[in-house]
Amino acid sequence: MSAHQKMELKCPRCDNKSETSVWVSINVTIDPDAKEALLNGKINVFRCGHCNLEEPLNTDLLYHDMQNRFCVQFYHFNLIKEKQFLDMFNEDAEQQLDMPKVPFDNYMEHIHIVFSMAELVRYVLFRDNLARRKGSINNGQLVCFCCGSNIRKGDNYYCAARRRHIKGDAGEDSDCIKDATSSLQVCTGCLTKAASGGIEFSNLAIPLLHVEKEELHNFAKRRIDTKIDLELPGKSRDLCSFCAGEIRVGDQYTRLTMGEEVEGGSGIRSVSEYTFAVLCKACSDNYMAWT
Ligand SMILES: [Zn+2]
Ligand SMILES: [Zn+2]
Ligand SMILES: [Zn+2]
Repeated sequence: MSAHQKMELKCPRCDNKSETSVWVSINVTIDPDAKEALLNGKINVFRCGHCNLEEPLNTDLLYHDMQNRFCVQFYHFNLIKEKQFLDMFNEDAEQQLDMPKVPFDNYMEHIHIVFSMAELVRYVLFRDNLARRKGSINNGQLVCFCCGSNIRKGDNYYCAARRRHIKGDAGEDSDCIKDATSSLQVCTGCLTKAASGGIEFSNLAIPLLHVEKEELHNFAKRRIDTKIDLELPGKSRDLCSFCAGEIRVGDQYTRLTMGEEVEGGSGIRSVSEYTFAVLCKACSDNYMAWT
C-alpha cells in the first residue's frame, strides 16, 4: 500500500504554514501516478505557498514494485549514528522486518537501502531498464522485425532504439534515462536487403518514423560496403533534429540511435552505437507512439 498524509508544515524561510503531502511508502504497482511524481522530483518536497521556497523533506521512504519484485528504502544519512537504527539490521545489512515469511517470495527480505532520494530514483531506473531488457529477451523478442526469424546466439543484429532523457548540466553521458525502447531490429540477411532498397516490417511493436527507416537504409549501405567508414559523429543534444528548437537543461528529449549488437552466452553486448537524431519533447510527443 502507498501511505501518505497531508501535514501543515512551517516554512523555514518565511515561517508561514503550507499543506504538504508526506509519503512514507509508495507501491508503484498500485499507484503508478506516485511513481511518475517521484521520477519528476515531486515526492516529499516542501513547497511554500507564500514565498515559493522548495525544499526536500528528507522523510524516510519505502519504494515497492510488486511486478518487478523489488523494494528500495531511503533513509536519512544522519540515522547511521543511531543505535536504534543500526539494530534494525543484521550483520549483512539486511533489514529485519516484522512480517510473516512468504515462501518463494522473499524479495521483501532484501530491501535495497539508499541514503539519498537521487540514488533512490537512479536505482529505480536501473531496475526498470533491467526488467525491460530481461523481459524482452525472455519473451523471445529477439527476432528479426522484418522476416520474423529468430536471432540466434552469437549472431550480430542491428537495431534502432529510442531513449528519453532529461538534459542535465553535466556531460550528456550523465543525463538521466527516463525510458527506453527498441523500435526496430533486423537480422544480417535483412540488413543486406535493406542496403539495396526498402524492406517491409511485419512485426513492429510501435509505428516506425520515416527517419528510422531511412537511417536503417543508410546504415545498411555503410555496413555492407565496408569501404565506407562506419564511424559517424554523434548528434548534439542541444538542438532538436526536427524543429531545430533549443533543448535546455532540465528539458526532456529523445535520442534515436542505430547500433549493432550480438547475443553472446552471458547476455547482449553492444558492438557499436551512434545517435542519428535528437528530438525535443514537443516533437517526440507529436511524432512518436510509445508502448
Ligand atoms: Zn515560505
Ligand atoms: Zn530478418
Ligand atoms: Zn522539436
